[in-house]
Amino acid sequence: MSVSLWQDRSKTRDLEVQNFDIVIIGGGIAGISTAYWLMKEDQGLKVALVEKGELACGATGRNAGFITCGSVEHFNRLVGTHGAEKALEIWKFSEENLKLLEDHIIKEKEQKLQFERKGSFSLASTYEEFSELKKSYDLMNELGINVEILDQDSIEKRLNTYGFVGGIKYLDDASVHPVLLLEEILSHFKESDSFSLFENSEVFRIEQIKELKRVHTKSGKIDAPVVIMATNGYSTQLHPYFSDKIYPTRGQILATGPLPNILEGPCYANFVLDYFRQTPTGEVVIGGFRQLKKDTEVGYSDEVTDVIQDALVDFLNKHIPSIKGTDITHRWSGIMGFSADGQPMVGSIPSDPQIYFIGGFTAHGMGLAFKSGKCLVDLLFDRPIPEFVSAKRFV
Ligand SMILES: Cc1cc2nc3c(=O)[nH]c(=O)nc-3n(C[C@H](O)[C@H](O)[C@H](O)COP(=O)(O)OP(=O)(O)OC[C@H]3O[C@@H](n4cnc5c(N)ncnc54)[C@H](O)[C@@H]3O)c2cc1C
Repeated sequence: MSVSLWQDRSKTRDLEVQNFDIVIIGGGIAGISTAYWLMKEDQGLKVALVEKGELACGATGRNAGFITCGSVEHFNRLVGTHGAEKALEIWKFSEENLKLLEDHIIKEKEQKLQFERKGSFSLASTYEEFSELKKSYDLMNELGINVEILDQDSIEKRLNTYGFVGGIKYLDDASVHPVLLLEEILSHFKESDSFSLFENSEVFRIEQIKELKRVHTKSGKIDAPVVIMATNGYSTQLHPYFSDKIYPTRGQILATGPLPNILEGPCYANFVLDYFRQTPTGEVVIGGFRQLKKDTEVGYSDEVTDVIQDALVDFLNKHIPSIKGTDITHRWSGIMGFSADGQPMVGSIPSDPQIYFIGGFTAHGMGLAFKSGKCLVDLLFDRPIPEFVSAKRFV
């Protein structure tokens, strides 16, 4: 969204410029995770986090809550693109993300955060996809990743789900209530004197004032030597550097009312494009189908459309017939940031090195952002980060 002269309340209220060491823009899982790791450094840094709406109003508060390992494609394709060693490194990065979340944040709060570690499934509706999943299974087995293969019969029995010829189960994956998780991360440093949160403070300009950056928000101005953009899908709205690096992509989703337990765990289908899971409180959540309307499912509008919402309902009726006709209580969408190669991006803008950034999670931020935030803090303190997340790969 753009900000008019009249909406810029810092002008009419004549607010003082505030000074911080670091300003993080964006209150999603990436911004909050980065703040967590910054505060952990215990360097006495004064950190401000500014968010245009409320915390989690972006993709983080609108996702399906899968915390899955790997990336947007089946493992055999990841190996095809990167080779086995790099593919394993990418996989291990997301395993480490989950472990860090469990050790630092979730600990004994599984129930409170609706966290479950039931694994996740990838289901094939064609023999062609199943043959890719079998290849993935073999490769993963060789590399020591915990995975199980399933035939049609066991999918029907264990998931009450029909129309799939086979699949694999990634045994270590998890799921969570994404907003409760975000709030839990924040609770670790929210009260700290060196941390300040500014919600409803859209940033509309970043200006250079001598050696500092001046961050103009609707509610005030902040000066700091370092700015971190954690704006993911919205990044191009704030800086042109991202226009050919992080693409805003809409994802649509719906939820039913609470139902008896029918699904053993979260599921992906159709080459990771479509997905469904059941929450611990019984709601079935189904998302995907942006491939039906690639031309409309881009940009910044978080409307829902009939074409995709109808496709989601058809999917539910076809594949989970026991809940056919059930009430749909929520329909929504969110804006994701897709990177050019599907991997996250952590770095600074080459022409403007005081602006750091984190994003490009390509529909997998819950499985990547906590560790990516740690990487960004490593970068700030001149510690090495993995090549495949470093934005230097695009230079
Ligand atoms: C329907 C859907 C389902 C998904 N399902 C999953 C899933 O199951 N598992 C998974 O891992 N991932 C999933 N994702 C992707 C996941 O939600 C994202 O990868 C993740 O939330 C990205 O987090 P983020 O903090 O980088 O971005 P966001 O959560 O989008 O946060 C960016 C924040 O920046 C703020 N902002 C933007 N511009 C400005 C500005 N100018 N000034 C101030 N603030 C600004 C925004 O308001 C926003 O809050 C899904 C996404 C969608 C939309």
